[in-house]
Amino acid sequence: MMRIAIVGASGRMGRMLIEAVLDAGDAELSGAVDVAASPALGRDAGDALGRRTGVAITDDVAGALRNSRFLIDFTRPEGTLAHLRACTAAGVGMVIGTTGFDADGKRAIEQAAETIPIVFAPNMSVGVNVTFKLLEVAAKILNTGYDIEIIEAHHRHKVDAPSGTAILLGRAAAAGRNVALDAVRAIDRDGRRQEGAIGFASLRGGDVVGDHSVILAGAGERIELTHRASDRGLFARGALRAALWTRGRKPGLYDMTDVLGL
Ligand code: NAD
Repeated sequence: MMRIAIVGASGRMGRMLIEAVLDAGDAELSGAVDVAASPALGRDAGDALGRRTGVAITDDVAGALRNSRFLIDFTRPEGTLAHLRACTAAGVGMVIGTTGFDADGKRAIEQAAETIPIVFAPNMSVGVNVTFKLLEVAAKILNTGYDIEIIEAHHRHKVDAPSGTAILLGRAAAAGRNVALDAVRAIDRDGRRQEGAIGFASLRGGDVVGDHSVILAGAGERIELTHRASDRGLFARGALRAALWTRGRKPGLYDMTDVLGL
C-alpha cells in the first residue's frame, strides 16, 4: 500500500484526489492538508464525499508527511513551492498538478527533483498526452502552408491563461516544426496573424472542466484535434497512476509521457 497525502484537500481537485485514493486497492490516504483559512480544517477528509476516512484535514504539511510516502499537490504555485521544500526535507516524492508557475518556480521544481522523484504535468489525462503526440506529428508533416491556432475553454474560476495544457500543445506543435515556441507564440493577438505564428485563444466561463482544440488551417482544408474533459476524476486518476508509477524510481523530474510510456 502506498501511503499518500493530499494537499489542497478541500479544493475541486483535492476532493477528487481523495476519492481516487480511497477507491484504489493499492493506495492509502495518510494525510489531508489545506490552508489554515480553509473552512474544512479539522473535518474528516471524506466529509465532502459523504465518506468517513479517519483522516482529519490539517494545515500541518510536515506532520502529514511524517506518515506518508508521497504527496499529491493540485493547489497554487506559491503553495506548491512551500510543499516542495517540505517534501525534499522529508524525502517524500511528489505529483504536481498545479499550473501557472513562472520560470523561477519551474527551476525550483527541477532542483528539488535532484533529491526526490517528481511527476510534474499540467494535464494528467491519458487522452491529452496522446493528443500532444498526434499534434507533434501533424505539425511536422504540415510544416508549411498550415496555420496553427490553439483554443482552450475552462470554468470561470481558473486563474491562469492560457492553460498549462494549451502551452504544452504549443510546445508540441513547435517541436514538430523544429522552432522555439517563445519565438512564434501569439497570445492576446491584436491585429493580423503573423506568418508562422502559433496562436492561442482562451475562453472562460461557467463550469467547463477543460476543452482544448488545435486547428491546422491550410488552403481549402482544416484539421482539428480536440480533447474535451468532462469529469475532473480523470485528472485525479491520472495523478494517482503517476504516484504509483514512481515506486522504486530514482529522484528525477518526470512527466505523463514517462508515466504512460509514450
Ligand atoms: P481550487 O481553487 O478548487 O482548489 C485549490 C486548493 O488549493 C484549495 O483547497 C485551496 O485552499 C488550496 N490552496 C490555495 N492556495 C494555497 C496555498 N498557497 N498553499 C496551500 N494550499 C493552497 O482549484 P482546483 O480547480 O482544484 O485546481 C488546483 C490546481 O490544479 C490549479 O493550478 C489547476 O490549474 C490545476 N489543475 C491541474 C490539472 C492537471 O491535470 N494537472 C487538472 C485540473 C486542475
